[in-house]
Amino acid sequence: MFAERLVLARKAAGLSMSALGLEVGVSANAIKKYEHGNNMPTSKNLLKLAKALNVRSEYFFRPIKVNLEGVEYRKRANAPQKLLDKINGDVMEQAERWAELLGVYPDSVTPVPQFILSESLPDRVTTLNDIEAIADLMRQQWSLGLNPIHDMVDTLESKGIMIINTSVEVKKKFDGLAGKIESTPVVVISSHQPGDRQRFTLAHELGHLVLHDRLAEGLEEEKACNHFAGAFLLPKQAIREHLGVKRSALEAQELFMLKHEFGISMMSILFRAGQCGILSESQQRGYYMQFNKLKWRTQEPGDPYPNEETYLFKQLVYRALSEEYIGESKSAELLGISLSNFHKERKLGVTSAAIN
Ligand SMILES: [Zn+2]
Repeated sequence: MFAERLVLARKAAGLSMSALGLEVGVSANAIKKYEHGNNMPTSKNLLKLAKALNVRSEYFFRPIKVNLEGVEYRKRANAPQKLLDKINGDVMEQAERWAELLGVYPDSVTPVPQFILSESLPDRVTTLNDIEAIADLMRQQWSLGLNPIHDMVDTLESKGIMIINTSVEVKKKFDGLAGKIESTPVVVISSHQPGDRQRFTLAHELGHLVLHDRLAEGLEEEKACNHFAGAFLLPKQAIREHLGVKRSALEAQELFMLKHEFGISMMSILFRAGQCGILSESQQRGYYMQFNKLKWRTQEPGDPYPNEETYLFKQLVYRALSEEYIGESKSAELLGISLSNFHKERKLGVTSAAIN
C-alpha cells in the first residue's frame, strides 16, 4: 500500500525520484526501493517524505482505494503528461477521502443521492434542436425554470454527481475531466479557471452523461455536449427574452451583462445568439472575428465571473461529526487541516472561553 501511494504522491507533486531524495536527504535509489516495496523509510524519513510531498503521513496508509474509470479530459492539446499526473494524483487523493467519508455513514443514511436520469428522456437525439429540447427538459425535471443557475456545483451535487475542485496550477492547459467511481459520475474542475469556464465544463460534462448513447450518427459528441452546455446554462427562451428574437446588431455591454446574469462567457452567448437565430450566421462570424482581434477569446473584458465553490464534502464531515460517526481528529484528517485549525473552525473563531 505504502509503495503505491508514494508513487502517486510523488507524481502529484511533480518531483523526480532524485528531487524527492534530495529533499528527504536520501539517494534516488533509496526512493526507488521504497517505491518498489523493497524497503520502508524510517519514521523520521516518513515524516520528511510527507512534508516534501505536502501530504499528511496518514495518507500513505489510507486503506481506501478508489478506481476512477472512463476518464475524459477537457484539456488543451498541449497539456503535458506531467500536469495530468499531478491532477490525477490530487483527484485520487480527494476521491479517496470522499469514499472514506461516505463509508463512515451507516447504511440506513444516504448522505448523497444516486445519479439517475429520467426514463422520459428521448432515446435518440438526431438534430441540434433535439439537444435544445433535452436541455429544456432537464431544466424542467430539475425544477430550474428559465432563470440563471446560481450554483452549478450545488445543482449537480444535489443530483448525485461528485464534483472535485482541484487547485493544481493548470495555466490554461486544462478545463476539467470526468469519469466514474463505481457508478457515481465524477466531474473535476480547476479552481484556477474563472467561474464561467468552470460552469461550462460542468454543463458540458452533464451533457456527456445525458447524451452519451443517445446521439445519432453524424452528431459529434464533443460538439453536441458544447451545444447542450450553452442550452442548459442559457435556454433559448431566456436569451430571446433578454436580447430579442431577431437583432441587427448587439452591443458588447449587453453580452457582458448577460454573462454576469447567467454565468456563461460572452463568447458562448454570442454562439447562443447564432444558434437561436437572434443573429445571422454572418453577423455572428463578424463578431467572432472582432472578439478574436480584441483577444477576448483568451481573456474576456471586465471583472471575471466569480468562481464556483464546493461545500458538500465539508458539510458531510460536520454532519458525520455531529452525529458522532467520527471524532474530531478524523474530521480534521478528512478536511486535510491540523487539529488545532479544525478546533478554531469548528468554533467559528469564537474562543472557548466565550462559548462552551
Ligand atoms: Zn467532452
